[in-house]
Parts: sequence; C-alpha cells; structure tokens
Amino acid sequence: MRLAGKVALVTGGARGIGQAIAMTFAREGADIVVADVNLEIAQKTALEIEGLGRKALALEMDVTKIEAVEEGVNKILDKMGKVDILVNNAGITKDNLLLRMSQADWDAVINVNLKGTFNCIKAVSRPMIKQRNGRIVSIASIIGLMGNPGQANYAASKAGIIALTKTTAKELASRNINANAVAPGFIQTEMTAKLPEELKKKMLEAIPLDKLGTPQDVANACLFLVSEESSYITGQVITVDGGMVMA
Ligand code: NDP
Repeated sequence: MRLAGKVALVTGGARGIGQAIAMTFAREGADIVVADVNLEIAQKTALEIEGLGRKALALEMDVTKIEAVEEGVNKILDKMGKVDILVNNAGITKDNLLLRMSQADWDAVINVNLKGTFNCIKAVSRPMIKQRNGRIVSIASIIGLMGNPGQANYAASKAGIIALTKTTAKELASRNINANAVAPGFIQTEMTAKLPEELKKKMLEAIPLDKLGTPQDVANACLFLVSEESSYITGQVITVDGGMVMA
C-alpha cells in the first residue's frame, strides 16, 4: 500500500471526482478527511471509507470561509494527529457568456475554486511546514489552459489555480512540500451525463483517445502525485484528458 499511515484531506470529497480520490487513497492505506459543504453526503462517503478499514472523518467545511477552513484543520490535527496530503477538489461552475455574466456568478466561482484553494493551502501549510513534509494536489481543468466560451469565471479560476500551484511549489519546496495540479478534460460525471448527444459527439471528435475520462482516471493521477514515486516532481500540471491538450 502506497499511502499507509498517511492522513489526507479531500475537499468536495463527498461525491463525484473527490469521492473517487478519497476512496482511491483509502484503498492505498490512507486515513481520510472528507470535507464538504454537504455533511450528510460526506458522512456517507466516510462510512464507505471506514468499510475499507481506514479511519475517516466527515467535516462540514465551506472552503470559501477561512475561519471554517482553519477550524477544520484544527479539528483534523486534534482527531487525526496530522495532515500529510491536501487535495483541493471542491469546485463549481456558473456558466454564461461574458456579456451576460453577473458579478455574483463571477464572484461565486472565483470564491469557491480559487480563493477556496488558497484558503486550504494556507491552512495546511503551517502544520506541513512544521512536520517538514506534505503533498498538495489541486484540481484545475484543461479549460484553465485553453479557455472556453461561456466559462470566463471558471477558466480564470482554474488558470489561477495553476499559477497558485507553481508559487506554492516554489515557496514550500525547501520544507519538503510538493504542490502540483491535475487538469482533467471531459470526465464522465453527472455534469457531462446531462449534455446533449450532439455536443458529446463533437467533444469526442476533439479527444484523440476517443472516449471520456472517468473519475478513477483523475484519482489515479492524484495518487501518483501524492505517492513516493513522484517525490521529485513539483509545480507541474498533469492533464488527464485523453490527449485533448498537448503542450
Ligand atoms: P461535483 O459537483 O460532482 O462535486 C464537487 C463537490 O464539491 C460537491 O460535493 C460539492 O458539494 C462540493 N463543494 C461545492 N462547493 C463547495 C465549497 N464551497 N466548499 C466545500 N465543498 C464544496 O464536481 P466534479 O466531481 O465534477 O468536479 C470536481 C472537481 O473537478 C472540480 O474542481 C471541477 O472543477 C473539476 N473538474 C471536473 C471536470 C468534469 O468533467 N466533471 C472536468 C475538469 C475539472 P455540493 O454538491 O453539496 O454543493
């Protein structure tokens, strides 16, 4: 098991890609903190993790609120003893064309995706610096690399996550803390299941591997980035997109 004895905090870990990440880490031996705005679903995921024989803590935590995040991290230190891994996965979309995008929708997406990631990195960095060890993975998106009509707020937030990741990597490298980002392409989730068939067909034409990704594909990249195998990798963005974006 690659993560035996580690404690991992996964934001937005109750469902979707975050849940796949939480379960994957647990299967590799990590104890998991499932932090989400929805405590009830977080508790369900925590129960599944306990079913694998790991310790799990469900936390009601809104990543946009620094006080809630700091309180959450204190609770983790109290109940789990440490935090070795942070995965910034919580994210939302509120799509509209630039001209029609409201201030409220711009702010909401930047607040959850970018400020939330900053809040969580800030809160865990103190204990990680103290223990001279840590891994931070933030879920960006290929939209943050290439832009997308109707997603100015989302694209800016995800591009911001990439810049924040590089800065974090530079600031914390001397303390043995690695920070990387994963940029998924089109992943089979509730969101993509609802898309019209015509649009899905168009999307597939742009994916060299000719299929959508799965939450497990994203979780596998995260697992690599928090395991010992990637100890010499920091400040990088790994795209999990079937080859859509090639640098
Ligand atoms: P989901 O909406 O399925 O899951 C996101 C989770 O984050 C939900 O449990 C949600 O809770 C939670 N969340 C939302 N706001 C907050 C907050 N303020 N504080 C804490 N938790 C919060 O999303 P996905 O699994 O599809 O996406 C996960 C990540 O992957 C996101 O960052 C997304 O941008 C990124 N991504 C997804 C892609 C895809 O194809 N699905 C492609 C590229 C990137 P609740 O539902 O109760 O609000």
